[in-house]
Amino acid sequence: MKNQITRRDYLRIMGISGLGIGAGSIIGDQLLAQDIGESGFQSSVIAANKVQDSRYNAVLIEGEVIQPRRKLPVLTETDVLVVGGGPAGIVAAIAARRAGARVTIVERYGHFGGLWTGGLVLLILGHIAKGPKQVCQGIGEEMMRRLEKMDGAIINRGPGSNPTVDAEAVKYLMVEMIEEADVEVFLHCWGVDAVRQDNSLRGVVFESKSGRQAILAKTVVDATGDGDIFAAAGAQFEHRSHNVGLVSRIGNLDRVDKTKTSDAEKPKRLGSATPVSGVNWVNLTGPEVDGLDLATLTRMELNHRKYIWGKMQKIRNIPGYENVYLVETAPQLGVRITRILNGLKTVTVDDIRKATRHPDAIGVGGASHAEHGEWQIPYGALVPQTADNVLAAGRCISCDLRMADLVRLIPNCFVTGHAAGVAAAVAVRDRCTPREADITEIQKILRQQNAYLG
Ligand SMILES: Cc1cc2nc3c(=O)[nH]c(=O)nc-3n(C[C@H](O)[C@H](O)[C@H](O)COP(=O)(O)OP(=O)(O)OC[C@H]3O[C@@H](n4cnc5c(N)ncnc54)[C@H](O)[C@@H]3O)c2cc1C
Repeated sequence: MKNQITRRDYLRIMGISGLGIGAGSIIGDQLLAQDIGESGFQSSVIAANKVQDSRYNAVLIEGEVIQPRRKLPVLTETDVLVVGGGPAGIVAAIAARRAGARVTIVERYGHFGGLWTGGLVLLILGHIAKGPKQVCQGIGEEMMRRLEKMDGAIINRGPGSNPTVDAEAVKYLMVEMIEEADVEVFLHCWGVDAVRQDNSLRGVVFESKSGRQAILAKTVVDATGDGDIFAAAGAQFEHRSHNVGLVSRIGNLDRVDKTKTSDAEKPKRLGSATPVSGVNWVNLTGPEVDGLDLATLTRMELNHRKYIWGKMQKIRNIPGYENVYLVETAPQLGVRITRILNGLKTVTVDDIRKATRHPDAIGVGGASHAEHGEWQIPYGALVPQTADNVLAAGRCISCDLRMADLVRLIPNCFVTGHAAGVAAAVAVRDRCTPREADITEIQKILRQQNAYLG
């Protein structure tokens, strides 16, 4: 336990030792503010007064905003760059690293998990196929087993059952697994442009509090969910609308007094159980809109928040339900589908109907109930037709309109993330593009990493 920080160390590091803090006290700003006012903090000058920042140089010329050409600092260089730290991105980064590549992952928010955590999508659907058989294996399944051990998930392994997770446990576990794998991480970093050389993606431009910087990479995995990076790289895609909702969690359900409520009064939809007792997660479908349009996204946030709050007040007015309250609305809006890659291959509904066998299969997709047979996912669905050195993973891979609602389920995003990570590492190792990468080698490594390919 050499590296473990004791409470005493913590207080010393934070500069608050010797304050006589009693056992069980809250450590942090709240305590400092209460007990010692604002006097315990420390601040130093990083750059001298009158600093001017020359990184920003957009100008207004004759009514047009012009961004002049400028040289960007390179933040880092890596083998595999994964953009987006959701279910697909995290699994891709771990897979690529385990396959021997140097990996950097970049995420626009301050935590990992994407819609799974920030969107509070706590229910895992889509890991099973007819049988019922669990088709999502590999790193995604490893994550689920670890969550179960941490008491961070309700996992009923009975036929057709779907696990529910605790978002905080997922966020913690993802940090643990990314650190174990020794992946370089940049949070609070938004991918905004592609660094292109002819038809090839050579890196990505990011915007953060440190300004606009580039990361150079041999191969890039676009796990942004919205295909932000493959679009910037010049890949072709389909721009789709879908339902945009907002998930919430409600609490104190274990304090409902149903003896006070008549059957007619009982609220119909109160969501589903989570690993936290008395707390449910509540899904919201929302209207079909364009999830890439800024004005629409803003309107959805405002409207959904008003709707959820109003609904909660109605529930609290029901006798016996007075203590129920809104724990939180998801910090991340529930955007389901936006850009879908035009891949070398496309996952289609016919693949399920005909149980198509793909020679380049990189995994098997499942459904929420075991009514569907196994459907193999071809590697070509991750590879753009028109851009090189970039792979898609997660909800933006190439699929027809009717398949999107299966492709986007979390376990299926684990599966395509896993494949994209391994394929990126193979392309780097063999000094080729993902399009040219040896599919038998990708399949071999995926199997070694416990993936199920059908
Ligand atoms: C309301 C709702 C309910 C759902 N219900 C279920 C369900 O019950 N069960 C189920 O299995 N699935 C469900 N889904 C689907 C599932 O949550 C998503 O499809 C899945 O999380 C997609 O994973 P992903 O990794 O592809 O993308 P995301 O989860 O969207 O993750 C993408 C990550 O990339 C980051 N990112 C995006 N753009 C950039 C950028 N430019 N630069 C840097 N980082 C970026 C994001 O912050 C995010 O962390 C639901 C989805 C929604 C919206």
